[in-house]
Amino acid sequence: MATFTHLTLKLEEYLTPSELKKVKEAYRFSDEMHLGQMRKSGEPYISHPLAVAEICADWKLDAQAMMAALLHDVMEDQGVKKEELIERFGAQVASLVDGLSKLDKIEFQSQIEAQAENFRKMLLAMARDVRVILVKLADRLHNMRTLGSMPPDKKRRISRETMEVYVPIAHRLGLNNIYRELQELSFSHLYPLRHRTLLKAVKAARGNRREVVTKILESVTSTLIAAGIPAQVDGREKTLFGIYRKMRNKHLSFSQVLDVYGFRVVVDSFANCYVALGTLHSLFKPMPGKFKDYIAIPKLNGYQSLHTTLIGPYGTPVEFQIRTQDMHRVAESGVAAHWLYKDDEGSLTDLQQRTHAWLQSLLDIQKQTGDSAEFLEHVKVDLFPDSVYVFTPKSKIHRPAARRHGAGFCLQHPHRHRRPDHLRGDQSRTGAAAYRTAQRRHR
Ligand code: MN
Repeated sequence: MATFTHLTLKLEEYLTPSELKKVKEAYRFSDEMHLGQMRKSGEPYISHPLAVAEICADWKLDAQAMMAALLHDVMEDQGVKKEELIERFGAQVASLVDGLSKLDKIEFQSQIEAQAENFRKMLLAMARDVRVILVKLADRLHNMRTLGSMPPDKKRRISRETMEVYVPIAHRLGLNNIYRELQELSFSHLYPLRHRTLLKAVKAARGNRREVVTKILESVTSTLIAAGIPAQVDGREKTLFGIYRKMRNKHLSFSQVLDVYGFRVVVDSFANCYVALGTLHSLFKPMPGKFKDYIAIPKLNGYQSLHTTLIGPYGTPVEFQIRTQDMHRVAESGVAAHWLYKDDEGSLTDLQQRTHAWLQSLLDIQKQTGDSAEFLEHVKVDLFPDSVYVFTPKSKIHRPAARRHGAGFCLQHPHRHRRPDHLRGDQSRTGAAAYRTAQRRHR
């Protein structure tokens, strides 16, 4: 169980003693307010805000956000007034807690109107202060981790809401660790049987894979050492949901999906990303058309890496991601990655600024259209730029999306209807043609 002592160890690494003192005051107050309140699991309620705060501490969020994490349920559950929070902890912390409490009141439903309204509220809260959504995601993550004690229908409702709203937002903000975990947890509650079956199959296949993984790992590591490139090489495990989605969307068998091996190479400098790439390409033959330079052209959520697929031993495809330590941090926690690394004027980092610009552009669309359904189309397509599907209670919807590089936002053409089956899948148009189509549709 999470304790304040444990949290303190993490906070001492980056907060000043006076900041730490304020966080402690917030903890004491929260502990007192939640006294006697229990979670469904039977644990004292304070264990929840503490766990949420720990997740935020791993992102090294600032003292105000940490205080808000600890206090995030006191208004909602214990009826503490905003005025009291202002008096005790200042206006900033109070408004973060207030923002979080307002998000709590949102009940996500399948109706388009309600969902659009909910997305709008989330985006507004984010636009005001991204920290609100970071704490909210931490809150949701802990609730999903402890969903076991809830009744089945509640599990499903919360999981669907997580898949539809929180997973895409986490992805868009580049919080990939959370994105993957939320997706995996939702999947396990929405499709427990499929999840169990896949888990068993992956476990069974792991033995056979180990030999191949070790072999690739050894040859890659020694080749990079010989080339004088300091690097950390790791094998990447696919998530069960990732396997499931690939099987479904690309109509592949389990073994076809699992037959692809994934590795990550983290090097010491920008230049060495490209040197490592050349070195790997001379070790194994690259597969044509598979190389992508997300360093020169980062993904919208800030993600940077070189991607390439090589033909490894036994002719198996081996996917590589090559990046620096800095890029790795962003790849794992996106907009939260550089929270501490603000410049002297305290201005936001580039990625945070771009996130703000993106939120603004969405909110502008909302103002212009005033139509919930259309706004929702924009939001969803924007949140799923790679044309993956959005879960809806009845069906899944595929949407291709066009991206305009360099402009910092994505242009999309709202598809009102499901595309016929034979048109779905990998046929999303990209580039100039799609851009023109998108523009036409926007007029
Ligand atoms: Mn909570």
